[in-house]
Amino acid sequence: MVGLLQRSYDHLLNLLFPPHCVYCGCFLPEHFGLPLFCTCCSQRFRCVDISFCGGCGVPVSAFALVDEVCLQCHLQRRPFDDAVTLGIYDGDLRQAVLRMKRVAEEPLVISMGVLLATKLEEWFGGVLPDVVVPVPMLWHRRIRRGVNNVEILAQSVAGTLQLPVVSNWVKYQRNCQKQSSLPMSLRQQNVRGAFRAVSRYDIKECHVLVIDDVMTTGATAGEVARVVKSAGVAKVTIAVVARGIGVQASPGILPRFLARLKRELL
Ligand SMILES: [Zn+2]
Ligand SMILES: [Zn+2]
Repeated sequence: MVGLLQRSYDHLLNLLFPPHCVYCGCFLPEHFGLPLFCTCCSQRFRCVDISFCGGCGVPVSAFALVDEVCLQCHLQRRPFDDAVTLGIYDGDLRQAVLRMKRVAEEPLVISMGVLLATKLEEWFGGVLPDVVVPVPMLWHRRIRRGVNNVEILAQSVAGTLQLPVVSNWVKYQRNCQKQSSLPMSLRQQNVRGAFRAVSRYDIKECHVLVIDDVMTTGATAGEVARVVKSAGVAKVTIAVVARGIGVQASPGILPRFLARLKRELL
């Protein structure tokens, strides 16, 4: 009876406010619930035909992955344990991430959060993290922009996965420049020591899911991961809507990787 009433209510809402895809604007007849994407947009944002490194989320050929992880991750220890992304920061996904920073695009942010949560559900395979934490935003940037899109994104992911979200756990403790305005070589230094974790939460042995809209070098998400791990967190997973290709293989990485493989095989 409750289900029947809910369906009638949904039909009435659809008649009064016909739903539209929050990205391309096309009409969505008989579409109920989230995410509010048409089939085309939903498929293009999922990027199922591309392989991503399970360690840092960078897009990479499936042939370059060993145990689901790229060469860089095999050789360089990161502050986070794994990283999940919907796709590459390019084309429509890049446009969507840029639009998500605007006040009026909250429905797009919420729908993208549901899409990301669906991917995370598959990734975690039933063993979900304990808590969701958004990458913080500087207060003056939040006032200028008028919206904290990353916090809304984290709320959407957490709501879909039915996890608690703690927005004020990690805070900025000093000002720093906008990462996208800096060359990649300076981004790590820019955010080093920029955050602190509030001590009032019981976080020992927790698995934390850190949410951001985009990750390029991984410096910001990595610094948040480093701070919460220093505070006692056991595991950190980073989840972003889009992954920029900001990690360049350092010279000599392939010979070092092959040498390591040879050592392990002998
Ligand atoms: Zn669409
Ligand atoms: Zn990697």
